Amino acid sequence: MNYRTHLLGALGKENIGQAITVTGWIDRRRDHGGVAFIDLRDRSGIAQLVIHDEELARALHHEYIIEATGEVIERPDGQENENLTTGDIEIVANDVKIISRSQPLPFQVSTAIEDKEPVGEETRLKYRYLDIRRPKIAKSLKLRARVNAVARKVLDSKEFIEVETPTMIRSTPEGARDFLIPARLRPGSWYALPQSPQLYKQMLMVGGLERYYQIARCYRDEDFRADRQPEFTQLDIEASFVNQEDIIGLTEELLVAVFAEAGEKIQVPFPRITYREAMEKYGSDKPDLRVETQLIEMTEYFKDTPFRVFQASYVGAIVFKDGASTPRRQFDAWQEWARSRGAKGLAYITISKEGELAGPVAKNLSESERAGLLEATGAKVGDALFFAAGDRKKSQELLGSARVEIAKRQGLLKNNDWSLVWVVDFPLFKSTDDDDPDEIAVGDSKWTAVHHAFTMPSAEWVDKFDKDPAGAMSDSYDIVCNGNEIGGGSLRIYNPELQERVFSVMGISKEEADEKFGYLLNAFKFGAPPHGGIALGWDRIVALLTNSQSIRDVIAFPKSGGGYDPLTHAPAPISKHQRRETGVDYKPKTDQKK
Ligand code: ASP
Repeated sequence: MNYRTHLLGALGKENIGQAITVTGWIDRRRDHGGVAFIDLRDRSGIAQLVIHDEELARALHHEYIIEATGEVIERPDGQENENLTTGDIEIVANDVKIISRSQPLPFQVSTAIEDKEPVGEETRLKYRYLDIRRPKIAKSLKLRARVNAVARKVLDSKEFIEVETPTMIRSTPEGARDFLIPARLRPGSWYALPQSPQLYKQMLMVGGLERYYQIARCYRDEDFRADRQPEFTQLDIEASFVNQEDIIGLTEELLVAVFAEAGEKIQVPFPRITYREAMEKYGSDKPDLRVETQLIEMTEYFKDTPFRVFQASYVGAIVFKDGASTPRRQFDAWQEWARSRGAKGLAYITISKEGELAGPVAKNLSESERAGLLEATGAKVGDALFFAAGDRKKSQELLGSARVEIAKRQGLLKNNDWSLVWVVDFPLFKSTDDDDPDEIAVGDSKWTAVHHAFTMPSAEWVDKFDKDPAGAMSDSYDIVCNGNEIGGGSLRIYNPELQERVFSVMGISKEEADEKFGYLLNAFKFGAPPHGGIALGWDRIVALLTNSQSIRDVIAFPKSGGGYDPLTHAPAPISKHQRRETGVDYKPKTDQKK
């Protein structure tokens, strides 16, 4: 027997006169002397119940679940509610059963009240099941499901097959720290959770499937950073006998369909920019092209400068449009902002309406440097200029962040103004000196992979990358949306000797390669097809599409800061018995001797 005859959100004038039974949560209640009006909510929406039995009405509270039977009537003239799709009708309830009671809520979940009372995130996550009742979160989870379905439809139509790969694997250095699981049946041995299905998808290509995808959970044990999660989801794709254009074309088609599902239109093909150009012009390998400001290289301009700070291997500038009237204390705040990003500060010059240069840097420049500044930078009177000098990459990154921050503070960044761009032609290697605490060097050389160790060197570098790792380029690509990297991939190495040479540049010896990746190298000895793929950051994409502040808003049960789950209190200590049984304290004999 069904609990209900109708869903609330679908009720309308066509139901007038019908006797119906509905179920749902009490979203809101109002009493009008002798009559109670109740907004009842189920997954489909809200409709109004009218209850004339005062005693009964008194027993009904927020978020109680009731089953109500009654007749649908037209609302009296003037009492329609335009904010509700069901606002033309109401249900006069003559039988109400309480199915489940609710304690007073820690925060309001009602549609009508939610935005007026912002709730702390820790509390929202502690009671996530209540949070999910709020329309915003529920809507995001629903869109996420639809986006999954659309991606599957597009990929299925192209004969990609969905394969599940293991989440208990051998620890595989992929660039981040692994989460580890003790193996009870092999004391002293551990599984790892996958940082991505990378090697499995490559082995599926050796397996001849040719086209694979998976909505895959990935795990990386990184220090907490805003808007990262220790577990996250990728739409993971791999295909054989493809080149870069094939993967780019497929991804564009997928993203068009996914954005369309959210009602957003995007233009293909997306523009492309090389990694080098992205750094030089936008100071970022994930440039936000909604912002037009570009970096201007001033190294040559200041080559004979008397100003010590600008006597550097790189000097760059950006125009801060209309920035001249910025109050001094705001410029001080910009210094703070720069320092919080690890810079010493952010040099600036203002250009008054009369064309006069001011600010702490101006007086340090030579007469001719001052005279030519507007022409060299394209700045106009009323603007300001920000400068960065020193290490090329670090300075460019600082100016790159500043150009976006200026636009943000000037309110120029629109969420549904989409800028999608491919960043291509990445170097194959980068120096391990670029100290990222979350990057775990795979080998012990000065070089590590920019993308990952399985990325194909570009054709002209295949023979010589070992001789010039700094210059070597790769066949890899990132897709960037509004300044967020939403995916990345590459063509892969499929030849064991080539793979070993790349390992060797990264300081992984043959023995070590055999020990860590022997199974992959072995697989490549049995007819490995050329292949390549991409992984799309699914949480981020859904967050962008739902205009969410954080990926936490599109994950049903996310962790808060430091990987903590306020709902279940994970991670938590384990019992003595569990320690013994799982062997977490197991010490190999060699250790015991010491
Ligand atoms: N496995 C890679 C990653 O997670 C993506 C790829 O190369 O397909 O970044």
